[in-house]
Amino acid sequence: MISAYETSKLPQGYYTYGGTVLLRRDTCGSSQSLLLFMRDIGMRWVSAPGATGRKNRFGGAIEPMAWAEFHLFQSVKGLYLQSAEVREDFLAVRSSPKRLLASMRCYKRVKQTLMAEHESNQILVILWNTMLAFNENCPEQIVEYRFNWRLLKALGLAPSLQSCCECGLPLGEEPRWSSNGLLCSRCGSGTANKPVRELLDIQRAAMLDHHRFVQWAKKQTYNDNMNFFGEYIKKLIIFFTNFS
Ligand SMILES: [Zn+2]
Repeated sequence: MISAYETSKLPQGYYTYGGTVLLRRDTCGSSQSLLLFMRDIGMRWVSAPGATGRKNRFGGAIEPMAWAEFHLFQSVKGLYLQSAEVREDFLAVRSSPKRLLASMRCYKRVKQTLMAEHESNQILVILWNTMLAFNENCPEQIVEYRFNWRLLKALGLAPSLQSCCECGLPLGEEPRWSSNGLLCSRCGSGTANKPVRELLDIQRAAMLDHHRFVQWAKKQTYNDNMNFFGEYIKKLIIFFTNFS
């Protein structure tokens, strides 16, 4: 499998792509290295000369998790950031420690995924919608659960939330979770796992379209009744280990 770090150089010239900052690293002098995730060209390291100190000419557009239009120049030596216009800085997400941590975990997961995966516009949309949902003040556990399921779905690894992973029939009542996904009551009857009572909620959180999801999620309170989403995040993360 080809790593995104090994993607071929762009032909020499000027380019503009929308995207987000995955990572920022100080290099020598006033330069910084940015790991950008952009539409159509995926993940790329970009040099940003003049990005540090008071003379930072890129402003907030080079903050990790900022979304911007990036104007680039590919030279013989490398890819350079010439200018950038902030599209969304997600300040509301940064101001909440819980949401900030959850969004940082999502960014880290995207970076790990992209290292082994080329096709990425779909993943860029998933990340954008995730940040919008955090920004809308949807409960962060529900958003993070949705992000993980949809990322797994884009990779072809998501467990079905509608049919049994053993026999393929609709789940029906009282499905049970297993290491391979959800089992219908017949296939799961021999397991010790307790029945999944929150099936409708985990289906909605994962599968509603973005607009309906935000409407639904905003109505869910931060009370104990929704704490189970933390458990489902852990259950989903195991599925990423099948992918490397
Ligand atoms: Zn079954």
